[in-house]
Amino acid sequence: MPLTADAHPLVQLVPTEQALLQRVRQLVAEQIGPDADRVAQQDEFAWDTFRLLAREGVIATAFPRAWGGSDATTLLRVRIIEELASVCSTAASIITGTDLSSRPIVAGGSAALKDALLPDLASGAKQAAFALTEPGAGSDVARLACHYRDAPDGGVLISGRKKFITRASTADVFVAVARREGGPAGAKGLTAFVVPRHAAGVSVSAHIPKLGWNGVPISMVDFDGVAVPADHRLGDEGRGMALAQDTLLRARIGHAAIALGRMRGALQIATQYANQRQVFGQAVGAHQGIQWMVGSMAATLEASRCLVYATAMRYDAAMADPAGPPVGAALASLATHASIAKMQVTDQCMRMVVDCLQLMGGNGYLKAFPMERFLRDAKMNQIGEGTSEIHKGLIGRHVLGQAAAMARHPCLDFEPDLFCGEGAGA
Ligand SMILES: Cc1cc2nc3c(=O)[nH]c(=O)nc-3n(C[C@H](O)[C@H](O)[C@H](O)COP(=O)(O)OP(=O)(O)OC[C@H]3O[C@@H](n4cnc5c(N)ncnc54)[C@H](O)[C@@H]3O)c2cc1C
Repeated sequence: MPLTADAHPLVQLVPTEQALLQRVRQLVAEQIGPDADRVAQQDEFAWDTFRLLAREGVIATAFPRAWGGSDATTLLRVRIIEELASVCSTAASIITGTDLSSRPIVAGGSAALKDALLPDLASGAKQAAFALTEPGAGSDVARLACHYRDAPDGGVLISGRKKFITRASTADVFVAVARREGGPAGAKGLTAFVVPRHAAGVSVSAHIPKLGWNGVPISMVDFDGVAVPADHRLGDEGRGMALAQDTLLRARIGHAAIALGRMRGALQIATQYANQRQVFGQAVGAHQGIQWMVGSMAATLEASRCLVYATAMRYDAAMADPAGPPVGAALASLATHASIAKMQVTDQCMRMVVDCLQLMGGNGYLKAFPMERFLRDAKMNQIGEGTSEIHKGLIGRHVLGQAAAMARHPCLDFEPDLFCGEGAGA
């Protein structure tokens, strides 16, 4: 049934997982959905939603059990994110944003740093923000200029400006990626650190007004010679890009799940409207042109759902491999699948929300109806954590490389001259 994900053959959950998902659905129906319009009215952090999700143990799904989390599978997490996003992008992005900002600590922090930070992050007593992007480095992360140098006490001093940082105004700590002053250029020179919000030299700007995603504001963050203790480094020096990629891989699956949930919510709203609204003596939905639109959107929704669930399952299987987490070609393949899900589902979501709004005529354009909010929020999923263009490039390069490594297609078994001329590959 395209409008619900009940009993989907790809989603096999154990009873405790089903119970949490069921509770989330109840919250969506009784609190988060009815409150979504109010939350989106102003771009102040949605504390009520955050505290509710923390209290209900949903924030904790991003964390390992050893530090107060619930070690949730990615498959369960995408189902939860989908449910939240079917009514409220803010609520969904509180879950994905928690993972984005905490994952580098989970993956790269020392045992002492994890003990000090993760239990409070898992319970919602504290928040982190992920500070990667800079005014001169967005898609091209390797250009980032924020830098550090050694401090006399064995720690480092960090300076530089970070841009577009979600939850900067409410974060207790930043995960900041910087390069050693005078060190190697490019991705190899990057290292990640935990920077306490209240350290001397940290300043956070006022919220930067934006098109949508209200309730999760963004700010500029400046570091001016901020002293960071040695044990706040995440992973080895020079591993910052690898940690960022590990984090973004998960975040991309999260973006796809948000887009999936929004598609489902938009289609439900638009079709319920089309059943009700009368035009030329019958419901809007009774017209064949509308049925074709709805049929095509429902097929896109189901295809997107299969893609998101399958990508989550791939991720869970890769992480559960007894041989350890994927590296090399296996990691590149997993990252490509995350890029495919992110690009495909967020792009389809944008198209579908536009069509759903169209289906509602002038009412779709009004602030009194939720579709204009869905439309504004949809744009962000095509930009954050790698734009659609960046993912298209990543996927394209991966597939061209894969083709180069494969035996020639059996229907292309020509002599070199006839195939592509001299110099053509085998
Ligand atoms: C609401 C919001 C919240 C955010 N939250 C955070 C956060 O919490 N932490 C954080 O670190 N960052 C955050 N970001 C930043 C976000 O990740 C970047 O905006 C995004 O990665 C794109 O970078 P950019 O804006 O610098 O665009 P640019 O890199 O300047 O890209 C501009 C255009 O060029 C295209 N382009 C770039 N390179 C290529 C190429 N090789 N081929 C083809 N086209 C290309 C892009 O697709 C885009 O259309 C946030 C952004 C927004 C809007």
